[in-house]
Amino acid sequence: MEIIFATNNKNKVSEVQQLLSNSIQLKSLQDIGCFEDIPETSDTIEGNALQKANYVYQMYKENCFSDDTGLEVEALGNAPGVHSARYAGEDRSDFKNIEKLLNELDGQNNRKARFKTVIALVLNGKVITFEGIANGEILKERRGENGFGYDPVFVPNGQTKTFAEMTLSEKNKFSHRAKAFQKLVEFLTRNVSK
Ligand code: IMP
Repeated sequence: MEIIFATNNKNKVSEVQQLLSNSIQLKSLQDIGCFEDIPETSDTIEGNALQKANYVYQMYKENCFSDDTGLEVEALGNAPGVHSARYAGEDRSDFKNIEKLLNELDGQNNRKARFKTVIALVLNGKVITFEGIANGEILKERRGENGFGYDPVFVPNGQTKTFAEMTLSEKNKFSHRAKAFQKLVEFLTRNVSK
């Protein structure tokens, strides 16, 4: 069986493909010739994941899933949330996003934050969502060179290293995205690959 992963990120596709048996073949948006900008206009992470998966399903009538992630900071009323990628502006700069976050949290003792990933799957017209959460806190300065986004300032609960100081396999033990994809893979393995 083939399922579309509604992303243009080939690395994400091959990472998830490695977790699945060969009886489920993933296709990227490029693989199906979808080059348009898929709307992401919802004000929630879940809403955006659903919007992308439903859009692709309507257009291509094939089973598909999409993911959406955001950082929710308690003292900022769960901002940047759905706006995480463009928190400091349209150029999606990780550096500027962190700078803005640290400024907003200046003098704030409550540094609690969480990453949330939602995956929306449309399978034979039925919609199912999977969520992965990483709870942690935001440091006052950057540490580490690995990863991307807010990784240099995020330390998961119970750990001393930031995500940016971890290898990818270490990060995957705590990561929101890894947890959500594990749930998706378990579901597909149980329900599809027989
Ligand atoms: P996306 O939905 O995976 O594109 O994520 C949206 C934005 O959230 C990214 O542009 C990053 O700023 C941030 N983000 C998502 N996942 C991570 C992560 O694992 N570490 C740090 N930042 C992340």
